[in-house]
Amino acid sequence: MADLHIGGAWTSPREGRTREIRCPADGSPVAVVDEADGRDTADAIAAARRAFDEGPWPRTPATGRGGLLLRVAGLLARDKDAFARAESLDTGKRLVESEYDVDGAETCFRYFGGLVASGSGRIVETGTEGVDSRVVHEPVGVCALITSWNRPLLRTAWKVAPALAAGDTFVLKPSELTPHTAIRLIRLLEEAGLPAGVANLVLGAGPEAGAPLAEHPDVDLVSFTGGLRTGRALMAAAAGTVKKVALGLDGKNPNIVFADADHETAVDLALTAAFRHSGQVCSAGARLLVENSLHDRLVDEIVRRAKLIRLGGPFDDRAQTGPLISAAHREKVEEYVTRGLDEGAILLCGGERPARPPHPDGFYYLPTVLDECFPAMSVVREASSGPVLTVERFSGEAEAVRLANGTVHGLAGGVLTSDEAKARRVASALRVGTVWINDYHPYVPQAEWGGCKQSGSGRELGPAGLAEYRRTKHIWRATDPGPRGWFSER
Ligand code: NAD
Repeated sequence: MADLHIGGAWTSPREGRTREIRCPADGSPVAVVDEADGRDTADAIAAARRAFDEGPWPRTPATGRGGLLLRVAGLLARDKDAFARAESLDTGKRLVESEYDVDGAETCFRYFGGLVASGSGRIVETGTEGVDSRVVHEPVGVCALITSWNRPLLRTAWKVAPALAAGDTFVLKPSELTPHTAIRLIRLLEEAGLPAGVANLVLGAGPEAGAPLAEHPDVDLVSFTGGLRTGRALMAAAAGTVKKVALGLDGKNPNIVFADADHETAVDLALTAAFRHSGQVCSAGARLLVENSLHDRLVDEIVRRAKLIRLGGPFDDRAQTGPLISAAHREKVEEYVTRGLDEGAILLCGGERPARPPHPDGFYYLPTVLDECFPAMSVVREASSGPVLTVERFSGEAEAVRLANGTVHGLAGGVLTSDEAKARRVASALRVGTVWINDYHPYVPQAEWGGCKQSGSGRELGPAGLAEYRRTKHIWRATDPGPRGWFSER
């Protein structure tokens, strides 16, 4: 079956290009999928443009759009097992984590379905007689939705659900490494009754299938989740047509542990923050900032426990984390660790592939802890998106904040302390989009997600997540029209 979805039809690429997807956990073949080039992407943009300019979706009342989103949520719940399996085969991650992400995607559709149906727009009090002034929300137009390989379904849902809620049409370009849950989601949208041409799907590599989306004059918005370098290139490419750009980029997130934090909780959360899904989560707490007096006790225990983490494939019930996404990504992580050691970091554990991997063809890498790091090091400044925890020491609140804010990233961060006032002060001083106090990683769809500084300015989830996909328009109506008299004859 053809894998591109353009103008309501499943379509094969013009050039007949394909890519074989293999499971990163054991190299087993998953499927061969079609791959688009720029001409296929141009066709998808044209279909989305037609559906926006002439089709019924942008003109469907908000309650109708909300209703469709709620149907999609129901279909995701029905197909949870199939989605989770497909996600785990593409990413290699544990089935239970994929199940969690399908639940998250379902919740996201439910949230935006309810939010959009609850009404929009406002009357503006002008103080002028004979005027009715309203601000209305309208869909922004054709959206390019470009996503990454980590948590592919969830991050796709975070874009597709608000874009549809707003009344937009879109071209979705998932990561070339993890296309299957995107294909499934498009099928569910069809089943739920979305009109043809609203949801278009192109698969393929970024430079070929994705780059035309940022440049094309018929695309009104680019919403991108991925690496900093690609985000910068997209922003530059989008400048030519001054389109709206929403970016969610790398985080290199500080997890700050004060000496008064509960010890067991701090160990547990440091491991969760850094090593969940082998660190391939944009919010990973990959920088541990630890108060001097606590350093040895905390770090010794983290290292002892990191050595016990069980690696394995998606369907191994005893596995605690899985492989990296690809051979190329594992090499990137290896180079990154080597650089850190050259810069003077001390290797406390990991730093290599397992001697006895769960499968010889899986891309496994051991949980790694690098000690005695400081902000000038590239391992502190750059995201690895791998299972690598760097440890920096601090002394007191002011130094903790200075270190934490000392990179170009500003996505998320954690603060562990039993002093509530200190936690609030530090949370407010951190230049990041999300702070967890005495916790790490959870999110709710009602609260916004997004970074600051070079982690991007796009907002996902929450009311601001819907606002990304809308434009506002002010409509001023003279209710009692007549000459204003500026140029009346003298
Ligand atoms: P990437 O930047 O290489 O690719 C992301 C997407 O962009 C893919 O679909 C890719 O094909 C496409 N792409 C690549 N070059 C392109 C181009 N020139 N034009 C248009 N599209 C292009 O990132 P990745 O390796 O797939 O994803 C991992 C990165 O994503 C990590 O660095 C992680 O930190 C980041 N991430 C951030 C968030 C967040 O919320 N801020 C969430 C998840 C992942």
